Amino acid sequence: MDNRKTVLEVNDLVVSFSMYKKGFRKENLEVIHSLSIDVKEKEIVAIVGSSGSGKSLLASAILGLLPGNASTSGSVYYMGKQLDDKLRKQYLGREIAYIPQSVDHLDPVMKVGPQVVGVYSTEEKQRKMFQKYQLDKSVEEMYPFQLSGGMARRVLISAAVLETPKLIVADEPTPGLSVDMAMDTLKHFRKIANTGTGILLITHDIDLAFEVADRIAVFYAGTVVEISPTEDFKKGKEYLRHPYSKAFLRALP
Ligand code: ADP
Ligand code: MG
Repeated sequence: MDNRKTVLEVNDLVVSFSMYKKGFRKENLEVIHSLSIDVKEKEIVAIVGSSGSGKSLLASAILGLLPGNASTSGSVYYMGKQLDDKLRKQYLGREIAYIPQSVDHLDPVMKVGPQVVGVYSTEEKQRKMFQKYQLDKSVEEMYPFQLSGGMARRVLISAAVLETPKLIVADEPTPGLSVDMAMDTLKHFRKIANTGTGILLITHDIDLAFEVADRIAVFYAGTVVEISPTEDFKKGKEYLRHPYSKAFLRALP
């Protein structure tokens, strides 16, 4: 029997923006439509879909980090508790980790070492994690602008996994990494998941999803149109339900 708890449950999420069209007429643009998804303990669920389809917005909505002109409806549960601003404040950066797509999320005026340690961790843990991600000691003393893209990404990953979170939302975590480092990162994710963590891996790269995910969710036209075991995707398009998933698979080399 599967007695794993559900770490993340998103129900009927809608995200829209109010925008001024031609400078004066206010319009509502709905980018995410009635999206539902769940991630269980020990599970890696990948969301795949094309660029600009709203995947990063989904991450922001889960974490309560949407811009001011966005409005949402629907619900997000973390370990059975509905996430509101108060709970997000309590959990974010500890039990709930976020690996943002943009390295701009690093604080530009704070050295990298102390920034990664933050208020919840220790220098010792940070050093060990930096070693694992091949960031040498000098990196601790740097400011974010001194990091290369790949280094910044490894810093973001190190920071996120430092305290072995219960939920990780990883938004395109591997671009800019060497092939070896990307593989090691995925292996590390698997190891973390095996401890009981649920991971939502957002990616445009189905190979990544094939490599590590237990289930794959296909994001299309602002919603998840299909969520199936990775095995089904590997078996072929006749095992999938939605025409877009089949097309997605057919488009693979
Ligand atoms: P993905 O991560 O799948 O590439 P994003 O989540 O970054 O896509 O963006 C999805 C869409 O949401 C964008 O194409 C854009 O139209 C819209 N969007 C994102 N942020 C805003 C915003 N602040 N105001 C209005 N529209 C936005
Ligand atoms: Mg994105």
